[in-house]
Parts: sequence; structure tokens; C-alpha cells
Amino acid sequence: MKKKVHIIGGGLAGCELAYQLSLNNIFTHIYEMRPKVRTDAHQTGHLSELVCSNSFRSDDSVYNAVGLLHEELRLSNSLIMEAADKNKVPAGSALAVDRDMFSEYIDTKIKSNKYIKVINKEITSLKIFNDDIVVIATGPLTSKKLSEEIEKITSKKSLDFFDAIAPIVYYESIDMDIAWKQSRYDKGDGDDYINCPLTKFEYFKLIENIKNSPKTEFKNFENTPFFESCLPIEEMIRRGPETLRYGPLKPVGLTNKHSNEKPYAVVQLRQDNKLGTLYNIVGFQTKMTYGAQKNVFKNIPGLQNAKFARFGGLHRNTFIKSPKVLDKYLRLRTNKNIFFAGQITGVEGYVESTAIGNLLARILSSIILNKKFISAPKSTAHGSLHKHITKNANVNTFQPMNINFGIIDSFNENIKVKGKERKALKTRKAIKDFKNWIKKQTN
Ligand SMILES: Cc1cc2nc3c(=O)[nH]c(=O)nc-3n(C[C@H](O)[C@H](O)[C@H](O)COP(=O)(O)OP(=O)(O)OC[C@H]3O[C@@H](n4cnc5c(N)ncnc54)[C@H](O)[C@@H]3O)c2cc1C
Repeated sequence: MKKKVHIIGGGLAGCELAYQLSLNNIFTHIYEMRPKVRTDAHQTGHLSELVCSNSFRSDDSVYNAVGLLHEELRLSNSLIMEAADKNKVPAGSALAVDRDMFSEYIDTKIKSNKYIKVINKEITSLKIFNDDIVVIATGPLTSKKLSEEIEKITSKKSLDFFDAIAPIVYYESIDMDIAWKQSRYDKGDGDDYINCPLTKFEYFKLIENIKNSPKTEFKNFENTPFFESCLPIEEMIRRGPETLRYGPLKPVGLTNKHSNEKPYAVVQLRQDNKLGTLYNIVGFQTKMTYGAQKNVFKNIPGLQNAKFARFGGLHRNTFIKSPKVLDKYLRLRTNKNIFFAGQITGVEGYVESTAIGNLLARILSSIILNKKFISAPKSTAHGSLHKHITKNANVNTFQPMNINFGIIDSFNENIKVKGKERKALKTRKAIKDFKNWIKKQTN
């Protein structure tokens, strides 16, 4: 068994894939263009850098689909989950990480793995790989030249949409005589978020200020749809002045410890690093210019002296029409040596992209080791994502997908159980089926 796998992109999917293959003694080369060639969002040269939020979202594996995906990854000995668990910071019921420690951890693990070689190089053409196995795991910010190559080989126009980044402020610059620490409904440690209270007047002034502020022009992205789960704040406001108050700024489950007056809305900040020196403003991904962000955010009570470690921004996202161009092995229907993994396959999010890396590792292991590949059961979060991108999604309306209970096909949908109980039933079945699936692969 001499086959080597070339992985383009040392992000979450590429690293998980290489690591999982190494557990089967399969050699890989990871080609990562950073730090030589930069993207618009990454800041370092580390492998698996998180470009925006430091959160892997809910860690509740009983009632939440992303929490279920965490659990399935842990059952697969996922490197990304190991790094997240080892470098986590307080975030209520969510799993959030110190982003630098997280990516440094992965960087060290990958670079010291004898089965993996990291080559810092931008890949612009696939010809150099001849007939070897190649995996494209270059993510939402795939470099321009490689995007052009992908368009050529898929003979389908890749799609783009916006992805947005929220600003980060230094903790010491937040006025804690106005803001207070508390998680909604005291979840997690009870005080994982910093809350800034807004009166009705302050709330509507904030909305007006955001509306009237100068925005960065994105001419190349005109007519590009937004990703619904990560909308820029301007887009939320465009949908109605109260949208934020019923979304990230909802004032429920919180008690202002400095005042008896009930806030009309609450801006929340989530810890961004282990030291607790950085906090990101939840839901404030924005396309306002940097100057405007400074002016607008200083009107939020508690942030009047805020110092910014990073401003918010908007970026392109690239993905292929997977249901049309990929087969069930996540490889091109037209070229059996070219595989795809991660967000470029049309999943969305850190955890989902990692899961596709994990899935592809199992597919490639079976091909290289000449074993029968058994698909992950459709009742599992892994299996649902796999089915969604290769089969179930409508190719004409195909948009990147987060994991959710709607795509997990566990049992006859007419079953009477509803609400939380139904979710718990689905997660219980998923974990059981996933364990069996993993067991079958080791037999
Ligand atoms: C602006 C923005 C904000 C986001 N916010 C969030 C968020 O808050 N939460 C969330 O869960 N997800 C978010 N995402 C999505 C998240 O970034 C992805 O889900 C995840 O990083 C995808 O993992 P991946 O391994 O597929 O790609 P990545 O992690 O992006 O890794 C791809 C790697 O490929 C490299 N690369 C690109 N082109 C080449 C080339 N030609 N040659 C060699 N190397 C190359 C890149 O440098 C990068 O390191 C955001 C994405 C963007 C763009």
C-alpha cells in the first residue's frame, strides 16, 4: 500500500482528513498557501485558523444537532474536537475556544505527525498531481487561480455568497460599571457573556446610526445572496427595525445587576480567548467601514471607550454544486482522482466542514486499503450531511447547509413524539448508529 493523498488546504477539513488518514498509516501531503499567500480573512500562517467567531456553537448533544455532530466527531477521535476541548473558554452551553491556542495545537500535532508533510505553497493547477489522489479542501476563501481551475474541471459555475465577521474588543476597555457578566438563563457557568443594556431610545438610535453609516463597497459581490445563519447586521436591520431585538439583541433571560430598569435590548459579547482579554460582539458582523464601526459602537452603553482588536468585515464564500458534480465518494463524477472536502462541498461552519473531512478520510481509507465502504447511517449527523450534499439537496437551489434536525432522517416522520423529546430520540438513535458504524470500520 503505497498510495499517497495530496490535500490542498490546511484548514479544518484538510487537517482532520490528514490526521484521520494517518491513523490508518496513510501518507498525505498538505499544501497550504498561507502565510506566503494570504486570504482576506485569515490573520496567521497557522493550520486550521478560525476566521471569525471562536465558537463551535452548542455543545449540547441531546437537544442540539451541532452538539450531536461534536459528539460523533469525538467518537471518531477527531483532532479538531480534541483541540477544541483542550483549548476551550467559558461560553455557556456553547463550545468556544481560544483561537490562537486552538490553531497552534493543531499546527503542532499535524507537523509532528510522521505520516503528514506540510508544504507551504499555493496550488494553482491540478496537473502537477498526475494520476494521484487529490483532495480540494480550500474552503470558502479558495484562491482565485484555483477557483478558476475548479470552474473549468466542474464545468459548472461555482457559486458565491457573503460571509461576515464580527468585531472583537479588548476586555479592559469595556465599562463593567455599566455592563455585567451573565449567560442567558444563567446557562454554563452563569456569567460567560458580557451584557450591555440599551434603552428603547438607545436601541433605535443604534439602528439609525448603523443604517446611515458608510459601508464598504463590494462591487464584485453584487447580487450575491447572504448566508441566512450569519447575516450582516445591516441586512438584519433592512428586514425590520425590531429584527435585532428578536434576534441577537433579545433582552430575555438576563437581569441587569446595576439597575432595576428592564433593558429594551441587550448587546452581548462572548469571550474570544482563554486569557479572557478579548471579547467578540455577538451578531455584529458588519460591512460598515472601520471608522464607522468605531463611531457607532461607542454609543453602546459599556462600549463608550471600547478598543478594537479586530473590526468586522464581509467576505466571499465559494462552493461547488455538489449534488450535481460529486458522487457518493465525494469525488468528481468526471474524474475519479479528484475529491472535495470541507466547506467547498456546500456545508457551512467549522464543525460541518470538519465532519466532511472526517467522512472523506473513511471513504479514502476504504479505497486505498481496498475495503468496502459503508456510508454513515442517515440517522447520524455525519450521514445526513453526506446525503444532503451528494443526493438530497435540490441542485437548482443548492445553498450551503448547517447541520440541523430537519435533515436528520431517523425514523418515520409521522411518529407522534414532538419538541424536545423528539430531538432527544433522534440524538439517542444517532449516537447508537454512529458507534455501530465506527465499530464496523475497525472490524
Ligand atoms: C468571513 C467568514 C466568516 C465565517 N464565520 C464563521 C463562523 O463564525 N462560524 C463558523 O462555524 N464558520 C464560519 N465561517 C465558515 C468557516 O470559515 C468554514 O466553515 C471553515 O473554515 C471551513 O473549513 P475548510 O477546511 O473547508 O476551509 P478553511 O478552514 O478556510 O481552510 C482552507 C485552507 O485552504 C487554504 N487555501 C485556499 N486556497 C488555496 C490554494 N490555492 N492552495 C493552497 N492552499 C489554499 C486557505 O489558506 C485555508 O487555510 C466563516 C467563513 C468566512 C469566509
